[in-house]
Amino acid sequence: MQEKDCLFCRIINGDIPSSKVYEDEFVYAFLDIAPGFPGHTLIVPKKHYKNILDMDAKETSHIFAAVQKIAPAMMKVTGAEGFHVLQNNNEAAGQTVFHTHFHVIPRKADDGMTLWTPTSYENKEKMLEMAQKIRNEIQ
Ligand code: 5GP
Ligand code: ZN
Repeated sequence: MQEKDCLFCRIINGDIPSSKVYEDEFVYAFLDIAPGFPGHTLIVPKKHYKNILDMDAKETSHIFAAVQKIAPAMMKVTGAEGFHVLQNNNEAAGQTVFHTHFHVIPRKADDGMTLWTPTSYENKEKMLEMAQKIRNEIQ
């Protein structure tokens, strides 16, 4: 289940070269060409899914099993003290390659990377209301 025009399907197939760090039956992992920091790795399912909502729980479990293998090795090699697992869904969230992928990014305490600027709710009620609305929508 691959798409011939998909960049990451072509990387998995070997049509386009990549710096592979890990591969098993379900996932392929390689270095991001424009890393947040060196060692920044992309973990992708071998099957083409547009985003995480297209994957079932079994597929995502293969990804996280790979995270748990790759991240300690990446931290050891880079000297990172921590790491992110980041995943962008849809253009509005910064997704640029529409074959779902998980970024594993090494971090050090003083590396200067900022992921978001915290905001706040108008009041506690607004926060409770938001949680209630989301709970009601969960199927
Ligand atoms: P997104 O913005 O969709 O979450 O992440 C896509 C990522 O793919 C980006 O971080 C980008 O640097 C990386 N990328 C795009 N094209 C290539 C490529 O041809 N090879 C590799 N290794 N990474 C790529
Ligand atoms: Zn694909």
